[in-house]
Amino acid sequence: MSTTGDLRRIFKACVINPIAADRVDRYDPGYLVVTGSRIERLSRDDPRPAFPSAGFIDLGNKTIVPGFVDTHIHLPQFRIMGVGSGDLLSWLNTYTYPEEARFANPEYAAKVAAEFFDAVAANGTTTAVVYSSIHEEATDLAFSAARTKGIRAFIGKVMMDRNSPEALLEDTQASIARSLRLFEKWDGAEGGRLRYIFTPRFAGSCSTELMKRVGKIARDRNAFVQSHLSENIDEVNWVRRLFPECASYTAIYDSAGMLTKRCIMAHCIHLSSDEIATLSRSEVNVAFCPYSNRTLHSGTMRYQKLRDAGLNISLGTDVAGGPSLAMLEQMQEATAAANISWSEALYLATLGGAQALGLSDQIGNFESGKDADFVVVDQSSVWEVYVGGRLV
Ligand SMILES: [Zn+2]
Repeated sequence: MSTTGDLRRIFKACVINPIAADRVDRYDPGYLVVTGSRIERLSRDDPRPAFPSAGFIDLGNKTIVPGFVDTHIHLPQFRIMGVGSGDLLSWLNTYTYPEEARFANPEYAAKVAAEFFDAVAANGTTTAVVYSSIHEEATDLAFSAARTKGIRAFIGKVMMDRNSPEALLEDTQASIARSLRLFEKWDGAEGGRLRYIFTPRFAGSCSTELMKRVGKIARDRNAFVQSHLSENIDEVNWVRRLFPECASYTAIYDSAGMLTKRCIMAHCIHLSSDEIATLSRSEVNVAFCPYSNRTLHSGTMRYQKLRDAGLNISLGTDVAGGPSLAMLEQMQEATAAANISWSEALYLATLGGAQALGLSDQIGNFESGKDADFVVVDQSSVWEVYVGGRLV
């Protein structure tokens, strides 16, 4: 039984329910019946006669949408959001790595993690897929902060065993051992609200051995994996030089065994047709981060080509490459970068994200029986956020 018991509440508002990339249903007014932590039903007819003892919340002109799923975000970059400029590799070295090194201090890590999850939830994100720093303790504290906040989170300790500053460099074996300890401790915790996701940062900062070990763990344990792929031309050229034996950037991850349907690859901008075919065959999920891509001048992901190849696409804020935690802003960026409708962007921000995480039977829209994760929007800004029927 949930903490809210079987309390039944009826929320009246304009309710927008994504069904597919090309179909979003609008109920104006709609009545969202929430029983305990679950969606009981969504209707156009007033259900009060059937449920005379239910609580009734009239939200007036406000709009209800499903909770947002942010499939790519860096917790230790929260404090440098909107800071810095330049292209990817110089931005990493100048701004990102020095800030991430500060997470060796548990006090600092705990403080920022609490602020981060407060801010994530305040922006309507009810499920976040998060990169931590390389630090095991900071990652443990990030899980604790997500648990305290009550949101859903997939969190991974970043793995970096080469081409990284001294303070952020770890031994291959230690990186695997730390990640496995966190996986054992947190994967599936809080009734499945918390999941571990193995996080080799990107091929440039990982050895072949490290990525192969991750690939094996992913397959043996059906574990989630996330990384970056083909974000920026200089990065692509550098990574290609590091792995002359591989035919492409995608082939590096493919030969390591990392590409599965539980894998989320961020960016995927400068890909050949062969690489797109490999991702599609492997059922890899793509985190589309248009705001970050624009800010760092990385290029524009070929949305329609990837969609036509059958890839599942979701949205990521990529804070702090992206300068905002707001998925509403990210949706706006997606409409411009991919030339899609607002409805399709909403699908990417909700059900598309749920699908990337294998959670489309639990979250992503208002189908009966799903968890009551939703956002109340007032005049284009987030007003209230519920996870599992609980106000967060
Ligand atoms: Zn990123």
